[in-house]
Amino acid sequence: MFNNLSDRITASLKGLRGHGRLTEADVDKTIREIRRALLDADVAVSVVREFTGRVRERALGEEVSKALNPAQQVVKIVNDELVEVLGGATGDLHWAKNPPTVIMLAGLQGAGKTTLAGKLAKWMKSEGHTPMLVAADLQRPNAVTQLQVVGERAGVPVFAPEPGNGVGDPVLVAMNGVSTAQFQQHDVVIVDTAGRLGIDEEMMEQARNIRDAVNPDETLFVVDAMIGQDAARVAEAFRDGVGFTGVVLSKLDGDARGGAALSITGVTQRPILFASTGEGPDDFERFHPDRMANRILDMGDVLTLIEQAEKAFDQEEAEKAAAKLASGEDFTLDDFLSQMQQLKNMGNIKKMLGMLPNMGQHREALENFDESEIGRVEAIIRSMTPQERNDPKVINGSRRTRIAKGSGTTVQQINQLLERFKQAQQMMKTMGKGMGGGGMPGMPG
Ligand code: GDP
Repeated sequence: MFNNLSDRITASLKGLRGHGRLTEADVDKTIREIRRALLDADVAVSVVREFTGRVRERALGEEVSKALNPAQQVVKIVNDELVEVLGGATGDLHWAKNPPTVIMLAGLQGAGKTTLAGKLAKWMKSEGHTPMLVAADLQRPNAVTQLQVVGERAGVPVFAPEPGNGVGDPVLVAMNGVSTAQFQQHDVVIVDTAGRLGIDEEMMEQARNIRDAVNPDETLFVVDAMIGQDAARVAEAFRDGVGFTGVVLSKLDGDARGGAALSITGVTQRPILFASTGEGPDDFERFHPDRMANRILDMGDVLTLIEQAEKAFDQEEAEKAAAKLASGEDFTLDDFLSQMQQLKNMGNIKKMLGMLPNMGQHREALENFDESEIGRVEAIIRSMTPQERNDPKVINGSRRTRIAKGSGTTVQQINQLLERFKQAQQMMKTMGKGMGGGGMPGMPG
């Protein structure tokens, strides 16, 4: 996400370091570089112009000339203005006073609406809501079944027209869906609507009709971030054709440039509320402009990282591990395995590691990070006897050969794992003495 843009902006800001005082020429050079980086990232021209104008004005102003560290002050300004461009404060959904809250999804076909409907419902459920999905996309042949599948996965009911019943009116389906949700006392209902491959008047009219029929509290425009510069144009068409209250950026995982994210709020004056970052049901985040700006400036997004870790980590397991550590008991291969599994629960590890600060410097290592390593470690440990897991010292040469065979690995890989485990065990011993807290030793790679 944003790799190229991030590298270029951080490089140009680094160029300011070491200058005691900044001249107008220094500032202009940096701003020129940032402008070019933004344009290459497909950010809308009007947004780039406004952004660089504001940064320049502030960078030449008093706050920088009086700063102890002018270069750092410019970084702060760029950060502030990035936050502004991304929408300022984190946006919230508008919840209806009288439930159900009606949320309508709109966007082009393939934008990721149906996928998002499932993620949104799952997230709402985890927040204590009782969502229901409504399949009002009757255009795409598989859309209804697809929504039923994502609904099932999220454990959320789906209102869909009976197949083959001649029910071809999406407005009627939407209305019936919302009244069913009300009757069944769901507090929120998400209406998936049809899109088309390009902007067309018929689609806009259908979306408008659905909108008028269900009177949504929130209309979310879902846009594929990978379409880059086109995103702003499509967004304008939807704003004028249907109107929307918030934006969801989908496929942000595939958008290495960042143009859509940086353009859309400026162009439409609507907040980005959520980001979809993969095909899995949990590849979903609330959109926090400040955290996103930090990611662009390679300062990392530790808050999101912690939130995702908290979700993935089994509290009970963590407490058990901490207690064990504090008691001075030995850290075994079983503990090691359980930590690996928790790590795996956190989802896409590459993505998670990418949220750490200064990862730009380690991008290559990150790209080469092999997630299948965790599976290999699991296979190896599972091929050991309980006694061996408790006390790996007993694993001799012939057992190593057996374990390698059993796990489909090589003796060398077994040796590596045992060596790494020894180090982890050592580290746990020291930590156990020190603070008695849990940890994550032995990360592969
Ligand atoms: P719809 O036509 O707007 O309902 O779009 P879909 O939800 O069917 O999504 C279109 C395609 O994009 C599907 O293959 C999804 O798996 C994929 N997709 C959706 N969201 C994301 C995302 O955030 N990242 C990636 N990589 N793929 C996505």
